[in-house]
Amino acid sequence: MFQEKSFVDIDNKEIPIKIYMMLILTAYLFSIAVRYIWVDWASAFPQYIYNGELMINTNDGYLWAEGARDIIAGFHQPNDLSAINEPISKLTAFIVNITGIKFESVILWMSGIFGSLIVVPTMLIARVLKLDYVGIVAGLLVGIVWSYYNRTMIGYYDTDMLTIVLPLFTLLGLILSFQTKKDIYILFTAFSMLLYIWWYPSAKALNLGWVIIALLYTLVFERRDTQSYKIVLFLMVAQTPISIELRSVLIAILYIAFHYQQEITFKYIKHIFIFFTIAFIYFGGLESIINPIKGYIFHQSVIENSSSINLHFYAISKTVKEASSIPFELLAKRISGSEITFILSIIGYLMFIFRYRLMLLALPMVGLGLLAYIAGLRFTVYAVPVMALGIGYLIVWFAQRVSEYFKNGEQVVFYVVIIITTSFTLIPNIIHIVNYKVSTVFNTQEVKVLDKLKNIAKREDYVLTWWDYGYPIRYYADVKTLIDGGKHTGDVNYPVSYALLKPQEQSALMARLATEYTEKSFNKERKDEPIIADMMRDYNITDPALFIQMVNENAITPPPKSRDIYYYLPLRMFNIMPTVALFSSIDLSSGNEKDAPFLYALRPKGKQGSKLIFTNGLIFDIKTGELKTPQGIQKLGIFALSSITSPNKPPKSEIIQYDPNSNIVMLFMRDYNRVYLMDRELFDSSYVQMFALGRYDKSLFEPVVIDPLVHIYRLKR
Ligand code: MN
Repeated sequence: MFQEKSFVDIDNKEIPIKIYMMLILTAYLFSIAVRYIWVDWASAFPQYIYNGELMINTNDGYLWAEGARDIIAGFHQPNDLSAINEPISKLTAFIVNITGIKFESVILWMSGIFGSLIVVPTMLIARVLKLDYVGIVAGLLVGIVWSYYNRTMIGYYDTDMLTIVLPLFTLLGLILSFQTKKDIYILFTAFSMLLYIWWYPSAKALNLGWVIIALLYTLVFERRDTQSYKIVLFLMVAQTPISIELRSVLIAILYIAFHYQQEITFKYIKHIFIFFTIAFIYFGGLESIINPIKGYIFHQSVIENSSSINLHFYAISKTVKEASSIPFELLAKRISGSEITFILSIIGYLMFIFRYRLMLLALPMVGLGLLAYIAGLRFTVYAVPVMALGIGYLIVWFAQRVSEYFKNGEQVVFYVVIIITTSFTLIPNIIHIVNYKVSTVFNTQEVKVLDKLKNIAKREDYVLTWWDYGYPIRYYADVKTLIDGGKHTGDVNYPVSYALLKPQEQSALMARLATEYTEKSFNKERKDEPIIADMMRDYNITDPALFIQMVNENAITPPPKSRDIYYYLPLRMFNIMPTVALFSSIDLSSGNEKDAPFLYALRPKGKQGSKLIFTNGLIFDIKTGELKTPQGIQKLGIFALSSITSPNKPPKSEIIQYDPNSNIVMLFMRDYNRVYLMDRELFDSSYVQMFALGRYDKSLFEPVVIDPLVHIYRLKR
């Protein structure tokens, strides 16, 4: 990895460097071994395995997987949103091409293999401060800590695998730079920042943190040291928002100038510094701080569109759970594994700073991690490595103090104390890992359906379904989708929500409109306009409510068909239908939200004559259509029973009508043992009619692949 002399050339009196390198390798293998716990558990389930390998467990992973697949294949379709330009896809394709390892295995294991690399910079940071034992403790802990594990476990194929590793190398470089003032380390630090921003565009915030902390550190402790300003200068150039190539060239030029023309450059360093500070701010170097603050202050729930047609859509942020504050207990557990360890880690980190003020440079990562307290749990991982070093410092300090009481066997006591206390920090995290039983994104049966679709649909065809399934569908079936894990704002969700919720005639019209206008939106200048605004323009309608009314009444001639549309209707969508409905339950003109349809799941307990009995005490009489509830008798409008006659055919259904004035429907899906109460609107929706009841309009749709878990229909027109 690193040459002993050129990189870690700091005199070390404790552990020989070769042995320390072996210890790094050991901690790395430990981190991977612990990750095998999930593999071992999941491998026992055939529904998690496809093509002889465990499937991945993160939805976004399928985006990168699609990109990597297309890079290897050497082609993809225009506008298919394939992630062929993403670094993680390129890295994946490169690994597959170089090693020849099976694609499914590479995307399964990459996160664990790369994510565990976190032990390397962690242990090297301790090493350069001559704290080898601190490094060993932190190295064992850092790779398996709660939140870090969750985001780098095997199968969690995502950019997270290097999102903490890369900035930790920046921290290492920064500590080395301030410690030694050697140009080569400054260069290393700047390029580590560039590598990070290349890998992960959101790196801007943390990279800006490095610039600010380096500047503050210089102003407070090293005001008179010109070399320190040089560090800040390099970091600032690395963070200036111009192309990465240009930044690399500028950094290289600066490096050469400083390294070979010391005197001249130092004479002008003030000018160079001022020039780059102005350039830095001018090009928007501070935006990564300013923008989130703006977003925080101007919190919007309904998104108003800026195009000439005034449209209002539902804001996705209302349904996303991740972006909310978390309680202290969870924060502590995610950062350190337990509350005690977390508090001790903070104490240890403060002691560490007190003794080695270079550790102040780690503050941006700590700060970003603690931001989770208000901004949501996805930030906790950033604090993990610094807190691991903090607890490591405290443990070694404590072990030293204890061993001093023993004249004989001082060494043994030192090791025993370290082993015991370290185990106490590891155990809660290992318990978490054992209990963290994540399932794969899709199960084998669903993937088999998609594999069939792949042989039926063309790559230019569209699949209409909720965005949750977009990436996996594109990966397994190589088709296009209207919405996906990265494209699901209110304006693009609206037509899909509409198509799933409305009766089939309207659904078919909206599906055709959405598909043709989505494709069209890629090829025109007014690209950032909602497709509905574009439709309205073409149909010469200025009032959004009128436009939707005309679609409702089927009073619009659909655009000519350019390709096929497939409806992907999975069982797993049933329970999220009220959420799906939110996106089309909004008045496009006013932004007023209508009530979303209601859906309520009942648990059947038994049958007595004509009566169905449910676990929560409800009793339904099929003969009379009366539902007995604790609040009294409720007359239902419809009872529908669906049953599967053949697993590869749409289900058959029987419908009993009761009170035409009642809005409540009971749906009994016999073979799934599921019973739902819902309103007529949801009952009449294309999703419920087609998936649950098999009542599809033969003039509009044709079943293509039917499986108890998923129904796929082709739109005929
Ligand atoms: Mn494609």
